[in-house]
Amino acid sequence: MSGDFDGLVAVVTGGAAGIGAAVVTRLLEGGARVAILDLNIDGANPSALAVKADVSDLASVTAAIESVASELGGIDIVVNNAGIGAQGSVETVDEAEWARVFSINVTGMARVASAALPYLRASSNAAIVNTSSIAATAGLPLRALYSASKGAVLSLTRAMAADHLREGIRVNAVNPGTADTPWVGRLLSSASDPSAERAALAARQPHGRLVDPIEIAEAIAYLANPRNKSTTGTSIAVDGGMQELRLRPI
Ligand code: NAD
Repeated sequence: MSGDFDGLVAVVTGGAAGIGAAVVTRLLEGGARVAILDLNIDGANPSALAVKADVSDLASVTAAIESVASELGGIDIVVNNAGIGAQGSVETVDEAEWARVFSINVTGMARVASAALPYLRASSNAAIVNTSSIAATAGLPLRALYSASKGAVLSLTRAMAADHLREGIRVNAVNPGTADTPWVGRLLSSASDPSAERAALAARQPHGRLVDPIEIAEAIAYLANPRNKSTTGTSIAVDGGMQELRLRPI
């Protein structure tokens, strides 16, 4: 909705591509001033402030959040979206990979939130939205590490919502199903016939297609919307019904 974020400043991690880029577009359309924190800012929306930052590095996060707050005049909304995939079972994923993925997918969200909290406390419309995944609850095969990291995102979301409730800072999550992003494009490109594999992947989704990142951005915009002051500690699935209908995962 045009104007629903007028006067607000939003930070979107991983905002240069995929789901994060769709969120950036949606928040800009709503009138927010938006900063992108991303490892790779090539292709970042030129209407946003793009800051090269690594959510797995505390010094990088602290410097990026401080520069956003000083350039844009505070922070009202944090969309903790940066995340990476990991394939394998507990037998095949090594210790270093567990540490690396948790540092990006889980601790990265805590780092960004912690650095932004002083600014969020000064806002009368403060909201954090964390990107989890259908993998948090679906029991997907050969996704042990990724699923554990996204389950932790849901637990972190609830704990942070409780910690900051009385400060007027709302914390929620989205649980996307398989979405049409560069990430999925990279996975498909390794198949012998990427377009056939894409069609097969779409057919395996409950609603017969990949989720459009715009649909996830709309759910995030709902959760970040200053009108929704009583929505906190919860999550919205954007997955064609997989989670709530208990449909067979891909
Ligand atoms: P993507 O790979 O297409 O884009 C991710 C962006 O995050 C990239 O711009 C990348 O440079 C950035 N990034 C990666 N590591 C970073 C780091 N350490 N610090 C800062 N930026 C970093 O991914 P996507 O598909 O858009 O996924 C975004 C989020 O949505 C992730 O948290 C992912 O787990 C989640 N998710 C994706 C899907 C899906 O099917 N695509 C489904 C469920 C959940």
